[in-house]
Amino acid sequence: MTTVKAYGAFDSKKPLAPLTIERRDLKEHDVHVEIMYCGVCHSDIHTVRNEWSGNTKYPVVPGHEIIGLVKAVGNGVTKFTVGQTVGVGVMVDSCRKCKSCIDRHEQYCAEGIIGTYNAIERDGSGMITYGGYSKEIITDENYVLNIKETENLVGVAPLLCAGITTYSPLKFAQVKEGMKVAVVGLGGLGHMAVKFAVAFGAEVTVISTSASKQADAQKLGAHHFVLSSTPNALKPYDSKFDIVLDAISADHDYTGYLNLLGLNGKLLVVGLPEHQPKVHPFALIKNRRSIIGSMIGGIDETQEMLDFCHEKKIYSEVETIPMSYINEAYERMIKGDIKYRFVIDLSSL
Ligand SMILES: [Zn+2]
Ligand SMILES: [Zn+2]
Repeated sequence: MTTVKAYGAFDSKKPLAPLTIERRDLKEHDVHVEIMYCGVCHSDIHTVRNEWSGNTKYPVVPGHEIIGLVKAVGNGVTKFTVGQTVGVGVMVDSCRKCKSCIDRHEQYCAEGIIGTYNAIERDGSGMITYGGYSKEIITDENYVLNIKETENLVGVAPLLCAGITTYSPLKFAQVKEGMKVAVVGLGGLGHMAVKFAVAFGAEVTVISTSASKQADAQKLGAHHFVLSSTPNALKPYDSKFDIVLDAISADHDYTGYLNLLGLNGKLLVVGLPEHQPKVHPFALIKNRRSIIGSMIGGIDETQEMLDFCHEKKIYSEVETIPMSYINEAYERMIKGDIKYRFVIDLSSL
């Protein structure tokens, strides 16, 4: 075992604080990563505060947008060498034998993924997984990503969750030149969705209730902006879009966004409101519309996305913070006061 410095929460009510954790001994196919940066995702807050079905195992060490350097490798490792820059995203294991795993859609593993934090390892050790708010992580090479980027590593970290979460559904919906895409919810996920949809050649519209997002939407590459703060603001856009990507995490209904979709239009859902959204069946049958949910992406697709971003110079917009700033960062995220992702510099720990 290796004792590693980390930051975590001991219960749902207390702020995060320094602690030490044990990392397992290097196994045959393990990669030992010295963590440089870790993005801060809304899931981290939900887990720390035990807001998702009460399943948080304390102490919890969050973080699943990890960038680091390979410090050591197990004897059987073939994909990585010492000194290489790598990433670890939302999952660190899955069953590897169900249809989803064999088809390389590990995120939909029939037995469930092993999350990078707050999960129990599959190896029978009973060890709880701890995430990237720590100095080092040891994980199986099959769930480690190769990072070609050398310059803007902070801007790459959020690609491992926010990036793949929006890339995967846009690819699934075959977004390409000539298509009209609307993005609602311009936060950590939404800002990546805009960048990807633009990169795929689509005509992109940001829909927001806040006029202050207009300049940002343009900066991110969006072609149009629609202010949706008044009840009838979306009426002129009925049946106008091929795709609406919904990245709103606050409670809302789907009907209003379904109405924006033309023939065979798709509402891509990546935001996770707490309460069940309403869907009017008439809004669904008109134009043969569909609602498609999507959760992160498989390992191969995540690698494809990282390589695509490297080639096209696509990064997340970030604010780099020291580890000790994390509790303030959470408060600011809850208020929506971040453009668009906090990334922790682990050299500060
Ligand atoms: Zn995440
Ligand atoms: Zn599986």
